[in-house]
Amino acid sequence: MNTISVIGTGYVGLVTGTCLSEFGLNVVCMDTDAAKIRDLEQGRVPIFEPGLPALIAKNVAAGRLRFTTDMAAAVSAAPVIFLAVPTPPGEDGSADLQHVLAAADAIARHMTEYKVIVNKSTVPIGTGRRVREVVRAGLDRRGAGLDFDVVSNPEFLREGSAIRDFMHPDRIVIGSDNAKSREILREIYNVLYLIDTPFIFTSLETAELVKYASNAFLATKIAFINEVANLCDAVRADVRDIARAMGMDGRIGKYFLHPGPGFGGSCFPKDTKALVKIGQEHGVSMSIVDSVVRANEFQRHRMVMKIEAGLAGLEGKVVGVLGLAFKQGTDDVRESSSIPIIRELAAGGAAVRVYDPQAMDNARKLALAGLDALTYCADEYDAAAGADALVILTEWNQFRHLDLARIARAMRGRRFFDLRNLYEPDEVAGSGLIYEGLGRLQA
Ligand code: NAD
Repeated sequence: MNTISVIGTGYVGLVTGTCLSEFGLNVVCMDTDAAKIRDLEQGRVPIFEPGLPALIAKNVAAGRLRFTTDMAAAVSAAPVIFLAVPTPPGEDGSADLQHVLAAADAIARHMTEYKVIVNKSTVPIGTGRRVREVVRAGLDRRGAGLDFDVVSNPEFLREGSAIRDFMHPDRIVIGSDNAKSREILREIYNVLYLIDTPFIFTSLETAELVKYASNAFLATKIAFINEVANLCDAVRADVRDIARAMGMDGRIGKYFLHPGPGFGGSCFPKDTKALVKIGQEHGVSMSIVDSVVRANEFQRHRMVMKIEAGLAGLEGKVVGVLGLAFKQGTDDVRESSSIPIIRELAAGGAAVRVYDPQAMDNARKLALAGLDALTYCADEYDAAAGADALVILTEWNQFRHLDLARIARAMRGRRFFDLRNLYEPDEVAGSGLIYEGLGRLQA
């Protein structure tokens, strides 16, 4: 079992395939996107993820990592096939399974011996069994009485620290209903097993729900502290002290207590909506998660209201925006709060000048394509040029050390909206700017 295939070579598939090759396995990464595979074959990495290009180059050179668009080749190459295809939200918020089921069908068409199909995509509870039905039906159509197993192995990596997360996970969750496939997965992750990574072996359904429950809980923490920050603004309390004091309680924990313009990314928004939908389908109210979804959407709008109030209206104003990525360390703009916030600022009549160190291309091509009121800038100071307000939306490290005097000189107005709480209010005020954070006490 020392060769594996990964179907879907995006953020999760490419990191999974690369890290497993680093563990010494032979890996074939397959994708239907020919341009992506061509890039990888020519040594270009289609996503920004720190440390990934060097690790890919090393394992390609060692002959352990290959890329292909050929599904038949990927299926025949390996006894174990990981699925890392997208599960985007459908119109009603439920996860769209077309890519997962298409991949399952393709595996059934090409397999000629026992396979373990390992699902790493985040999927609604019961999908593992659906994958099994699709593969079984495909094999029946061919009259092929082959054996196979389906395993759920949800992925918890974070973009921006994906390699470290994959190599040093808090836990590995393996959902399976037989010992054979469990043992095969344990062998694949042997490197992690040997360094005492906790393994949780469970049923297919439990593993599928672990992922949604984890993401929904983290999203709840963020939405919660955002509301506390909003209250702090109203009652003259400081959310940073509150979050620090709360976090010292071991039952609460200090992570995910940083207020911001609303959570984004390819996971939290879609997974919270999907969990609400899964609850509805089973007649179970997920009212807490439902509130989190709504609170997060309102948080984005609330940021625009804050800017609008500070500027006494948006019409004819120039707003500099720092940050398009949904968080630092990635070029991913999927569901980034920056996108609806910029759109709403533009719809209100503001001209927006934006800068992001990694995510400008993705915004230009995808999320903000065709938005006329938008200027892409060369750097932070260019974004501030002639602006009535400067707004920090992503917590990139380089935004933490701005030359505030230079920013103040570049702007025509004074408003500095620090919507990630990166600065001390006094420090900004000392540069002649008017500071507004989230739930921060001003001198
Ligand atoms: P992605 O969009 O970056 O990559 C998915 C890739 O799959 C794309 O390159 C696409 O071309 C390819 N693809 C689509 N259909 C295919 C098919 N039938 N055969 C082969 N390739 C196909 O997505 P991602 O961010 O890697 O997410 C993948 C899954 O992992 C999702 O379910 C997501 O929820 C989950 N997940 C993502 C993260 C994350 O941080 N991005 C973390 C944990 C889990």
